[in-house]
Amino acid sequence: MRSTPLVIALTKGRILEEVLPLFEQANIVPVENIAQSRKLIFDTNLDNVKIMVIRGSDVPTYVEFGSADVGVVGNDLLLEYGSGGFYEPLDLKIAKCRLMTAQPIGAKPGKGRLKVATKFTNIAKKYFAEQGQQIELIKLNGALELAPAMGLADLIVDIVDTGKTLKANGLEPKQLIANVSSRVIVNKASMKIKNVIIREILSKLRKAVEDRE
Ligand code: AMP
Repeated sequence: MRSTPLVIALTKGRILEEVLPLFEQANIVPVENIAQSRKLIFDTNLDNVKIMVIRGSDVPTYVEFGSADVGVVGNDLLLEYGSGGFYEPLDLKIAKCRLMTAQPIGAKPGKGRLKVATKFTNIAKKYFAEQGQQIELIKLNGALELAPAMGLADLIVDIVDTGKTLKANGLEPKQLIANVSSRVIVNKASMKIKNVIIREILSKLRKAVEDRE
């Protein structure tokens, strides 16, 4: 009887571009071009390993419930989702960026209740509570940078890399909430049941990360 394959959840975009070379160093290579395919699950050079491609915010869910054994996801999404439902054994140190507050260039910090637009509502709630700042949260799913200019919010909480997107929309980064990079997460039961292959993959990925430093 063939054993059930190990399923690894990845996301398209920047993480995929940066993670595939690391996976290649760990001898996991998809048999077709993931970026150019509309498929969502892919075979690899290894009989017992498959790669699925889903939204980043769904990776923790798939891994917590065991539909994927392993996932790669930014710690921004892990902070938003909440940890504890899976193991988090490795920082791949790729797709680095920062989670920051941003506001219109030159704007004075407002008094009273600030309107904060973000898709990271749990993170924002926690951050401003720690600062003792009362806020009104406005949940958006994209194009956050428009919210202040359109009068919807005083500031936003978003991912910043070079800062060009903020600047192009008349915003500047203010407070750093967290440094972000891609993490490997592992389902707790899979870690026991598929221990040999998961350990082997983690050790090869760990070496690939170290070789880059
Ligand atoms: P930038 O203009 O370089 O500051 O890039 C900011 C935009 O790129 C943000 O709106 C993010 O959505 C996206 N971005 C940059 N880095 C990452 C990353 N590591 N993971 C996810 N999105 C990112």
